[in-house]
Amino acid sequence: MRQVSLVRPAPEGMGIMSIGVPAGSDVELDLRLESVVEGVLVSGTALVQLAGECSRCLDPISDELEVDVQELFAYEETDAFGRTRPGAGGATGADDEDDDEQRHLVGDYLDLEPVLRDAVVLDLPLAPVCRDDCPGLCPQCGFRLDDDPEHHHDVIDPRWAALGGLQVEGETGTTRTTSPTSADDEKDED
Ligand SMILES: [Zn+2]
Ligand SMILES: [Zn+2]
Repeated sequence: MRQVSLVRPAPEGMGIMSIGVPAGSDVELDLRLESVVEGVLVSGTALVQLAGECSRCLDPISDELEVDVQELFAYEETDAFGRTRPGAGGATGADDEDDDEQRHLVGDYLDLEPVLRDAVVLDLPLAPVCRDDCPGLCPQCGFRLDDDPEHHHDVIDPRWAALGGLQVEGETGTTRTTSPTSADDEKDED
């Protein structure tokens, strides 16, 4: 078993729309390489830098993310045995998929990038926030609510304004019918 600690620059395009690993930033790898019958088992952790924007207030976010990495890199296959690959199981249609999922050592070279990419992308928050209780932006004017928690608008949404009107009419109607004095007043005016 071999223990490896190394720092590598992050590849391009490791992330999703709102957040990801800046290309060229440090990726710290702490890995164990274990020789097993089928190949080399790689396990350990990767620490990556994250940059993105808060899904609520759009402020820039920078963070770190540690992901677990575990992958078996199978030895390269030889044609000497007349087999295409172990475990293909004759399912001819699935050959391409097997190709994607089973990673192989190429000579002494072990391509960790796709493994790292999968681990990081799966662990990224779909809606990253700058902090858990980020109040976000005012839905009406886009004001950053964090700058003034008192911020609000008195304007009623036009779709609700109609309901507001109904309510006011109902209240006045009730007052009229249950108040005998107001009815008397009306008679006097006549
Ligand atoms: Zn925020
Ligand atoms: Zn506002």
